[in-house]
Amino acid sequence: MNILVLGSGGREHTFAWKIAQSNQCTNLYVAPGNSGTSAIATNLDLSVTDFKAIKDAVIANDIELVVVGPEDPLVQGVHDFFLEDEALKNVAVIGPQKAAAELEGSKEFAKEFMSRHNIPTAAYQSFTKDNVEEGHKFLETLNAPYVLKADGLAAGKGVLILNDLDEAKAELSNMLVNAKFGNASAKVVIEEFLDGIELSCFVLTDGKDYKILPTAKDYKRIGEGDTGLNTGGMGAVSPVPFATDDFLSKIENQIVKPTVEGLQKDNLPYVGFIFIGLIKVGDDPKVIEYNVRMGDPETEVVLPRLKTELVTIFKAMANGTLADVAIDIDERAATTIMLVSGGYPEAYEKGKEITGLEKIEDSIVFHAGAKDKDGKVVTSGGRVMAVTSYGDTYQEAIKKSYQNIENLHFDKMYYRKDIGFDL
Ligand code: AMP
Repeated sequence: MNILVLGSGGREHTFAWKIAQSNQCTNLYVAPGNSGTSAIATNLDLSVTDFKAIKDAVIANDIELVVVGPEDPLVQGVHDFFLEDEALKNVAVIGPQKAAAELEGSKEFAKEFMSRHNIPTAAYQSFTKDNVEEGHKFLETLNAPYVLKADGLAAGKGVLILNDLDEAKAELSNMLVNAKFGNASAKVVIEEFLDGIELSCFVLTDGKDYKILPTAKDYKRIGEGDTGLNTGGMGAVSPVPFATDDFLSKIENQIVKPTVEGLQKDNLPYVGFIFIGLIKVGDDPKVIEYNVRMGDPETEVVLPRLKTELVTIFKAMANGTLADVAIDIDERAATTIMLVSGGYPEAYEKGKEITGLEKIEDSIVFHAGAKDKDGKVVTSGGRVMAVTSYGDTYQEAIKKSYQNIENLHFDKMYYRKDIGFDL
């Protein structure tokens, strides 16, 4: 079958890398893709939210399966667009419809879903500009630190964690009244602060049954020792060493099962990935957030550990037969280190030539913000490439990635040298 992956990051390169290994895939397309995907698939120059352009590409290339990488097209209803179009309704789409994508598109929707289905999460209340004063009073009832979340999508920047009550009040007003995050902060969820260590759980579902993929831990901050600004992610490790069998069964019974059952009870069709951001508080998992797609860079460590053919899994998800598929996982650990442009996540330069790719041995380089230009590979974004390695232990895998990174160069290249050191 012909397959299209939507997106242009390391996540999408990893999807394409995995799909390209399947002899069930005849022609593979990535839109818009990057310099990594162009080597193994055909890049299509279109925007992931331009549904008309996607339709034209699907028809022109006889595409039967579309895998949606990022959240924006899902929250904007790309799956619904396919179902409502006579010419597209038989094309399988991996990614939930708009109604269920609200689990990521609206923090309040996600909190209400969790409360309805008794899924453990932080206590919360939500506010709009009409009840800012009540928001200030609610903050006074809480202890520091204060967690303020813009309800809508804010490119991963809409969560503020503040130690000072007056600052928290001021930021709440700033979000609600001055639209600090635009329309995304027209509503703000204030949450109880949860103190613990974070990890992510990835679930595949066809809407009825589910399969759990390996856990991963990502490193969000730009600086070593988890300091500085938040980023899209600077590295990841899978599996997560502190996720014991007992803890994993708590995640499954208290969170994954009620989530998939909740989707059915609420009549929210869901064919896709559920990425559950968790925090381990004492010995118990609590949900921090749902994402309706895979994470980046977690995909770069989770999919390399999946031995089952991804195309087989996708077909079963689309046909509602996921229960029949056995998910086979590589016992080895996988880690990835993200190379970023100096200055990221603030201002940075693009167009820097990347050299040394041919010297990589025993690691996989997934391209992210990198593109082809005049026969060279040049930087085109903040997060440039992810260097993934396997190892019998995660320490061995990390060592391999760091050794290989020594071969890679671009002007002002930066990466964290402490990925996995806290585990
Ligand atoms: P979110 O976008 O909801 O995942 O939040 C971004 C980050 O803020 C998370 O990865 C956590 O590190 C942190 N965070 C969010 N909610 C809480 C909470 N209730 N308690 C503590 N940390 C939180």
